[in-house]
Amino acid sequence: MKIMVAIKRVVDYAVKIRVKPDKTGVETSNVKMSMNPFCEIALEEALRIRESGMASEVVAVSMGSAHCVDTLRTGLAMGADRAIHVETPGTLYPLSVAKILKALVDVEKPGLLVLGKQAIDDDCNQTGQMVAGLLDWPQGTFASKVVLDKEKNLATVEREVDGGLETLCLELPAVITTDLRLNQPRYATLPNIMKAKSKVLKKFTPEELNVQIKSDLEVVQVTEPPKRKDGVIVSSVDELIDKLKNEAHVI
Ligand code: AMP
Repeated sequence: MKIMVAIKRVVDYAVKIRVKPDKTGVETSNVKMSMNPFCEIALEEALRIRESGMASEVVAVSMGSAHCVDTLRTGLAMGADRAIHVETPGTLYPLSVAKILKALVDVEKPGLLVLGKQAIDDDCNQTGQMVAGLLDWPQGTFASKVVLDKEKNLATVEREVDGGLETLCLELPAVITTDLRLNQPRYATLPNIMKAKSKVLKKFTPEELNVQIKSDLEVVQVTEPPKRKDGVIVSSVDELIDKLKNEAHVI
């Protein structure tokens, strides 16, 4: 079985985000970019499944500008067998990504498609659900544990829900999106970073995959959240109680 993993290049989680002066979006030039943390977890899970002998190949895929190749090389250094980059200009919204992923699934025919539960740049949390809908595959979202049964062709997915843990049984092929507690992703070692340079990285255009990139969404404006007012240090418990009584907002 082949596993396809969708990895997105995003502004690094440790970077302090700056809004562009023209308010069209977030500044990404001269900013450290990394693999979306949930995608690292998705890739780690796919690698562990392959290492346990339940899968034969892990293919990492990414859509976006030419810079996505760097993120794919990181994925290859972590252990993916090969990579696919679909180069697209401009902003990509989840439905377009889902359509491209569906087209790639039609070409590659994986038994499992693993995504992060959300990308930390747009926090959409939509792509996995959309691609599962387009493929008409079962979906296990926000997975905190994944167990495959190759003989029965099933995946058991545990997910954290409000009241506790929900366990789903999915018939393969299926879509899984990964939550934070699923695993601890590995670091790419220097020898593996070197090896990754010679791994296969194939390129497609959306046209070659017969996918039209268009969106009914328009970002009107991106603005920074209001600045937080400075805090005050109170000198006594009485003063604190007084402030809580008279100045705190009633919920
Ligand atoms: P989102 O729905 O945008 O929050 O993204 C959820 C997941 O979809 C991400 O963690 C990735 O696995 C996948 N994804 C979204 N956009 C892309 C992209 N441009 N390239 C590759 N994977 C993506």
